[in-house]
Amino acid sequence: MRCRPLFTLIPLLVSVLMAPAALGQDAGAPILAYHRFDPTSPGPTTITTPVFERQLDWLDAHDIKVVPLRSVVDAVRGGQWPAPGRVAAITVDDGHVSVYTQFYPIILRRHVPVTLFIYPSAISNAAYALTWEQLAEMVRSGLVDVQSHTYWHPDFRKERARRTPDDYRAFVNSQLVRSKATLEQHLGIKVDLLAWPFGIIDADLQAAAERAGYRAAFAYEGGWAAPGGPPYAIPRIPVSDRARDATFAALLTPAPTKKDQPR
Ligand SMILES: [Zn+2]
Repeated sequence: MRCRPLFTLIPLLVSVLMAPAALGQDAGAPILAYHRFDPTSPGPTTITTPVFERQLDWLDAHDIKVVPLRSVVDAVRGGQWPAPGRVAAITVDDGHVSVYTQFYPIILRRHVPVTLFIYPSAISNAAYALTWEQLAEMVRSGLVDVQSHTYWHPDFRKERARRTPDDYRAFVNSQLVRSKATLEQHLGIKVDLLAWPFGIIDADLQAAAERAGYRAAFAYEGGWAAPGGPPYAIPRIPVSDRARDATFAALLTPAPTKKDQPR
C-alpha cells in the first residue's frame, strides 16, 4: 500500500487551521436592511436619523466594520472574508427620496459604504422617489453602490397566480433583465446583485436570477449571511426605529447559522 505523500495533506491542514481566523467568526455577517429616513417621525419602514446615527455609533464602539455588500457576497460564495474582525453591511431598499436628503449626508460624513436596491420604474417618475441625478451623484461619491430591486417591484406571488406559466416566466425575466439594463445604462455601473421585492423567493425565481446574469440575490429577513449559504437567497436583517441600544445589540450579536431560508 502506498502512503499518501505529506504535501497533498498540507492544503487541507492549512485550510482547517486558517478557517476560524479567516472568517473572523463562524456565524457570518449581518446585512442590515433599511427603507426610509426622517429626522423626527418614525414609521413602519421609516427610521429616525438620530436612531440611525446611534446604530452607527454602536457599530463603531464595538469594532464592527461596515464593509461593501459585494465583499460579503464574495465570502458567501466561498471567497475570503472581507476583514479580519467582525463586519456588517448596510442596504437600503426602494429609493425613497429621504435616502438622498437624510441618509446620504450621514454616510458621506462618516464614510460608510452602502448598497441601494432600486426599482428603476419609479426613478425620476414617482413623487416619493429619487431622481437619476441624485442616484448618479451618490454613485460618484464612491460610497454608494446601486443594485437591482426588479423593474417595478411586483408581487411575484400575485403575478404567478394571474398569468399563464409561459407569460409568468417571461414577466419574471423582463423584470430582472430590464432593471439591470436600465440601471447600468443610466448610471454607467455594473449591476449583478438583486433584492427580492417583498422578500418573495422560490426555486424558480432563484434560477431566473442566475439566468438573467445576477451573481447573488437577497431575502428581506432570515438572520445572518453565512459562508456557503444559498447565493440567491442571502438573508438580511430588517432594522426599525425600535432597534435601539439592547435591541440593536441583539441583532448584531452572533447567531447560529440558519440553514432554512425564508419563503
Ligand atoms: Zn422593496
